Amino acid sequence: MLTIYSDKHRLQHGKAELIDGTLKPCFETPSRADMVLQEVRSRGLGPVLEPQAHGLAPVLRVHDAGYVEFLQTAWQRWTAMGRDYDALPKMWQIRRLRAAIPQHVEGQLCYYSMDCGTPLTAGTWPAITAAADVALTAIDQLAAGQRGVFALTRPPGHHAARDYCGGYCFFNNAAIAAQSLLDRGAKRVAILDVDYHHGNGTQDIFYQRDDVLFLSIHGDPATEYPFFLGFADEHGEGAGLGYNYNYPLPAASSVAMWFATLGTALGEIRRYAPDALVVSLGVDTFEGDPISRFSLTSTDFLRLGEQIGGLGLPTAFCMEGGYAVEPIGLNAVNVLEGFSMHQ
Ligand SMILES: [Zn+2]
Repeated sequence: MLTIYSDKHRLQHGKAELIDGTLKPCFETPSRADMVLQEVRSRGLGPVLEPQAHGLAPVLRVHDAGYVEFLQTAWQRWTAMGRDYDALPKMWQIRRLRAAIPQHVEGQLCYYSMDCGTPLTAGTWPAITAAADVALTAIDQLAAGQRGVFALTRPPGHHAARDYCGGYCFFNNAAIAAQSLLDRGAKRVAILDVDYHHGNGTQDIFYQRDDVLFLSIHGDPATEYPFFLGFADEHGEGAGLGYNYNYPLPAASSVAMWFATLGTALGEIRRYAPDALVVSLGVDTFEGDPISRFSLTSTDFLRLGEQIGGLGLPTAFCMEGGYAVEPIGLNAVNVLEGFSMHQ
């Protein structure tokens, strides 16, 4: 299987995130992608290609222009005030506050953010545009006839909505990939999100559409991040009604329960009969993950890949979460190898 990878991911290296009431070193670190790449190479998964530049047009197909402009200019505007440290928001536009977009960069940072775990840094813009190019180059390869391609995207993307960042995500790489498939002639695309956390951003982007089926298996938002989306009764809206499937599971769910739920989700994908599949590949469902509470073992990830491969669809994998850094490579590449058993 081909892997698409850019070193530019290292430019996003936040110093701290607010978690458990204190600023702690970011869980989402460059070493995550380094470990995955190392495993891709040592296991001989296949060639590793640099991404091609695709410009902002495919990004603007799924993200709000004002939001994209904010991300592009925020660091310069933030540092122009004499600040040389990462930008984090400090308030949110919650119930009964005005939804007007502030003029000041600090207000805009609050307006366009979901949480304060997602530092905007000097290297955020080059890193996120490179990650979008990684996802789009994976789609180039699918269009050229590859059956499965691995987009080693970092930072991850599935918490990024049409017009906000959060959960370490700025551009929604999987959504950009799915939209690109449609723009190249696919009629229907499915996105399967297997990260421990609900893919709230992806759901937000496609919630009113029937040309993208979105399915997410995740920790129940009643107790798990991102808390405010990802419940089982969110089915889509308007033309999108019936094209959004959430499978929230209690935090301590068994591996058997997780795979039974995967079976249900794969059944929905088969019924939808998409032209292609995008997988939001988070491996924070791993038993040793420091911020998640499912208990998949490394061997279970092989099985996950095999079952996805059994769909027989052209498939792009976009890397999402996974914070047990040492085994992240083993777990991610196990999914890809499991998938490849069907090729
Ligand atoms: Zn996650």
